[in-house]
Amino acid sequence: MTLSRRHLVLLPGLALLGCEKVERPLRGCATPIDDASQQQRRALAYVAETPNAGQRCDNCNKYVANQFQDCGGCLLFSGPVAPAGYCRSWAASPLKPATEAGP
Ligand code: SF4
Repeated sequence: MTLSRRHLVLLPGLALLGCEKVERPLRGCATPIDDASQQQRRALAYVAETPNAGQRCDNCNKYVANQFQDCGGCLLFSGPVAPAGYCRSWAASPLKPATEAGP
């Protein structure tokens, strides 16, 4: 099989379709967190990766979307929270059902 110029143009795009989703780092999530916020995060057992499928910061009613670029904020403490995060104060947002697994 000989490759035409058209094939050479299309091949990189087709190769990308077969690749797994490439994760890029979330922007804004490394914003410094003050001591008071750290203390509150520990008290609420905040984690950046939820252990509970379907219960994530980005479907919690206290989540403030995109407050820190790709990361959101939380009404309970300052600084960024990961969209896939979780804490003991999680409560379902009426805007995003708890069964939703991502943004
Ligand atoms: S209250 Fe909601 S948005 Fe805030 S850290 Fe806990 S789960 Fe995330």
